[in-house]
Amino acid sequence: MSRLILASMSLGILASSYAIAADDPQITVSKAKDNIYMLQGPGGNIGLLASETGLLLVDDKYAPLAEKIERAMKSVTDQKLKYVVNTHYHGDHTGSNEYFADHAPIFAHENVRKRLDNNDKVAKAALPVVTYDKGINIYLDDEHIQLSHLPHGHTDSDTIVYFQKSNVLHTGDLFFEVGFPYIDLDGGGSVAGYLANVNYMIKQFPDDVVIIPGHGKLTNKEGLKAFATMLEYSIERVSKAKADGMSEAQILEMGIGKKYEGLSWSFINEEKWLKTLVKGL
Ligand SMILES: [Zn+2]
Repeated sequence: MSRLILASMSLGILASSYAIAADDPQITVSKAKDNIYMLQGPGGNIGLLASETGLLLVDDKYAPLAEKIERAMKSVTDQKLKYVVNTHYHGDHTGSNEYFADHAPIFAHENVRKRLDNNDKVAKAALPVVTYDKGINIYLDDEHIQLSHLPHGHTDSDTIVYFQKSNVLHTGDLFFEVGFPYIDLDGGGSVAGYLANVNYMIKQFPDDVVIIPGHGKLTNKEGLKAFATMLEYSIERVSKAKADGMSEAQILEMGIGKKYEGLSWSFINEEKWLKTLVKGL
């Protein structure tokens, strides 16, 4: 992993964002492949294409981090920001929209704009200005960036971003490398749809694709397959329990089982994951 870290002494960027105190969050920069980078810190992972003719940013974390994100981008190259993409509407992926909207147009699925527009706490200036239904292509320098909307999964506004030339995929929150996934059932998400979308990505992209997940570390097709296996196992276990007439309390008592109980993390623990499955299946 250390070879992936782009050291930047001047910014004090450390190898692991998790080691840093929450009151002074930092942004770390890792190389995904070629001129594509992953920026980490609190909130969703950022994808950065640093081409000779400008930058493309995939997601932008929380508002207070905007200037740190910008400094991290500048540590890679001095090129100007050309485009911003939102993978979905959640605040840990769109929080710095207002800041970056001053520099570049924001692209997103039309439901990102709708959902942010319906949120009184979000400034109008933070709304995506180019929206699409199925997807859109962006061309920057010699890279072809495919934005594809996948149906109801993490939310109803999900986009996956594929850098065709470099063979790098940003999955948004359709992949939590860090543990159990968050499925936003109130935001148009679907448990069955989530698994279908993960299986679609496994089928659609080359075996040697480099994957930037929504949360967690840089990974690959094997990591995504293991995630799909966990989803399938979880869905089967809870579906069967429900068919057997078990109540939510009984399913929580039963638990997810030894194999996967270690996948609890700060935001989605075993109980929250099981409750999502009970409600969503
Ligand atoms: Zn999310």
